[in-house]
Amino acid sequence: MNPIRDRLVPEPIQNLKAYFPPAGGGSVRLDANESPFVLPDPINLKIKTALDRLSLNRYPDPSSTSLRKSFASRFGCVPDQVLVGNGSDELIATLLWTFRGHGEGKTPCVLLPVPTFGMYAIGAAAAGYQVVRVPLRPDLTPDLEAMTLKIREVDPNLVFLSSPNNPTGGLFSAGEIEAVLDAARGIVVVDEAYADFSQEPTWCSRVDAYPNLVVLRTLSKVGGAALRCGFLVGSPDLLKEMNKVRQPFNVSSFTQAAGEIMLENFDLLMDRVLITVAQRDHLGATLNEWGYKVHPSRANFFLMQAGGREGELSTFLHQAGIVVRFLSRLEVIGDALRITVGEARENMVLLERIRSFSL
Ligand code: PMP
Repeated sequence: MNPIRDRLVPEPIQNLKAYFPPAGGGSVRLDANESPFVLPDPINLKIKTALDRLSLNRYPDPSSTSLRKSFASRFGCVPDQVLVGNGSDELIATLLWTFRGHGEGKTPCVLLPVPTFGMYAIGAAAAGYQVVRVPLRPDLTPDLEAMTLKIREVDPNLVFLSSPNNPTGGLFSAGEIEAVLDAARGIVVVDEAYADFSQEPTWCSRVDAYPNLVVLRTLSKVGGAALRCGFLVGSPDLLKEMNKVRQPFNVSSFTQAAGEIMLENFDLLMDRVLITVAQRDHLGATLNEWGYKVHPSRANFFLMQAGGREGELSTFLHQAGIVVRFLSRLEVIGDALRITVGEARENMVLLERIRSFSL
């Protein structure tokens, strides 16, 4: 009992659980969807040189001007359509705080196809939204009909489409995204955190065509997770409102400098992405052959089921220093393991260990 907490913290926040990564580390970390590769030498060298030149006594550029330019030229939009965040997590929170108008006196609401990335519902609960969940189909593909019906019924402020979707790995097709954009009066957020691994065209260059489209991107999955550098692309009218809500110095000078160098040398990062894609497909095919159910993935991770023994397998892997993400009672499919694709040696260690688990 804590009377201050009980009186001041809204119930939806009291009901949340804080995210802490699994304790104790492990020698093979396949739980956080990071890149297993350190940055390529040419990028590392340029970052070191740039860091030497920073004026650490000064605040960072509040508009991340140079970084926005680099992003826009790589992803086919203009700098005025780009907002930078301290990771895309921050941008998700800023979206939710900005667009929670109560239109016609109703509670603001977000619509999520589920299962999906947990931060959408957490941020929404913290910002006072009602969260409406539309389950994916049993084979984990989007249920477009149910989604568009629900969108018309509840008129959500925001719809979040993680494509590829964390944790299932599946995509929303271009046609499905268009149908959601057409059905929704609110903002449709296409979260492309894993899009580099899907090799699908980006939606960043299409915000001119859809005034309610917002796209999210991040450097976290291609080797820059420590930087905390995320991007949002949308109409300048919408960005103008978000700029009032975000913290003025949300992106450090370190991050701006290093992020720009990563974007200017993105092809080097894409070489590693291709290695991950090949490794992902090899792991998936092998584990499927061994009788595990690996859901098709277009990301740098895959979702796997082990005939109801997922918890046991997770512990078995942990004992060998291999950390994967155990997701208990996921919507639609129940228990599952989300496994990030590591580098070749890590993936071999993973396969060897799973091979000695009798399914
Ligand atoms: N979106 C999705 C779908 C994610 O899985 C993640 C990271 N787990 C994020 C956004 C946040 O990425 P970051 O804050 O590192 O940019």
